[in-house]
Amino acid sequence: MAEFTMELNDDQKQVRDWIHGFAADVIRPAAAEWDEREETPWPVIQEAAKVGIYSLDFYAQQFFDPTGLGIPMAMEELFWGDAGIALSIVGTGLAAIGVVANGTEEQIGTWIPQMYGTPDDVKVAAFCSSEPDAGSDVGAMRTRAVYDQAKDEWVLNGTKTWATNGGIANVHIVVAVVDPDLGTKGHASFIVPPGTPGLTQGQKFKKHGIRASHTAEVVLEDVRVPGSCLLGGKEKLDERLARAHERARSGGSGERVKNAAMATFEASRPAVGAMAVGTARAAYEVALDYAKTRTQFGRPIIDNQGVAFQLADMRTQIDAARLLVWRASWMAVAGRPFTSAEGSMSKLFASEVAKKVTAQAVQILGGNGFTREYPVERMHRDSAIYTIFEGTSEIQRLVIARTISDMPIR
Ligand SMILES: Cc1cc2nc3c(=O)[nH]c(=O)nc-3n(C[C@H](O)[C@H](O)[C@H](O)COP(=O)(O)OP(=O)(O)OC[C@H]3O[C@@H](n4cnc5c(N)ncnc54)[C@H](O)[C@@H]3O)c2cc1C
Repeated sequence: MAEFTMELNDDQKQVRDWIHGFAADVIRPAAAEWDEREETPWPVIQEAAKVGIYSLDFYAQQFFDPTGLGIPMAMEELFWGDAGIALSIVGTGLAAIGVVANGTEEQIGTWIPQMYGTPDDVKVAAFCSSEPDAGSDVGAMRTRAVYDQAKDEWVLNGTKTWATNGGIANVHIVVAVVDPDLGTKGHASFIVPPGTPGLTQGQKFKKHGIRASHTAEVVLEDVRVPGSCLLGGKEKLDERLARAHERARSGGSGERVKNAAMATFEASRPAVGAMAVGTARAAYEVALDYAKTRTQFGRPIIDNQGVAFQLADMRTQIDAARLLVWRASWMAVAGRPFTSAEGSMSKLFASEVAKKVTAQAVQILGGNGFTREYPVERMHRDSAIYTIFEGTSEIQRLVIARTISDMPIR
């Protein structure tokens, strides 16, 4: 297993420069248009598919980078280009990872290609967990999946919300309650194939930021999927539920299951931290450039410590955020235990930095920063998502506080 390093090797530098080139040449120039249109940027996703950035292969290669830096590096560069478009490109990957992590070989082989489509006919996928009354509190989930043994089918009913690509996806991954007595341990994930009757898009949300990324409700009314669409298969689910019931009977805390779930979140959260670093770095670069060229009182505004020190702080915070993200990403691939919730730490810090740095960038650009003529206005709006999705900042603090104290902090 690779030791932790901050030095990218030649292969990684090549990949980084390739992704950066795509972000600079294709994503960034399209950012303002798709933000205004508030629509999925299909032509940009198609371009990404043509060059190989929109594919499972691309993800797998970055994911299996033994240094752990492949995914954070890719995320930072894509989100440096534009957060809304980048989320449209990586959103499918988030759903695909659920299938790769929990699905059988057959499920992976059948459904992943349908999630991406082909470069000539690109498709997207959605991961649907959140509900109107179950956001941070996943245990309050109500969407129900009931097994119809006679037909070997699962019947899904409920309403999902805030689903990235919800309703426009070719394949939806839906988390539902299969055993209400077991809380979150009674949840399971289902593949809903293209065109399945009963799945419809509800409200499409008009958002504050990442407006090129489609976010919508997904309504499930007597949605029937074959038994083969239960991720991981029925045998594995039955075993898991039996173990959970046994633990509940014996008064066990389910510590092992809890730890496994936590390790998964700790490993995935740094990727969101890396997205935030990308947006923060983009805004910082615009602000630095502007401060060196904008003249007031007969000198560039960066000649004032009041401006230069802000830029010094912005850069310091961004680099610190990246270090936390890289540390947690390396820990995940190296199999190091997250004894201080280092994954949550990286997401918490980087997302808060992105909000702060993009606000400072708006301030440094003055009136121009407040207009849509300059990209920092959009970056500031986009950055607000990072402290909300994949666990809010408060939930990250809760996880860190519980982990470092070993106390049931509420
Ligand atoms: C653009 C966008 C895309 C999304 N994409 C997806 C997706 O693809 N799939 C999906 O399943 N979900 C998705 N989500 C949902 C997202 O994960 C949730 O919004 C998030 O988990 C927060 O849930 P909530 O909005 O219900 O907020 P709530 O849980 O209602 O929280 C509201 C406020 O209360 C605070 N709070 C709640 N509980 C506590 C506590 N115990 N202690 C302290 N503070 C607390 C929160 O931190 C927050 O500030 C997306 C959301 C957005 C906005």
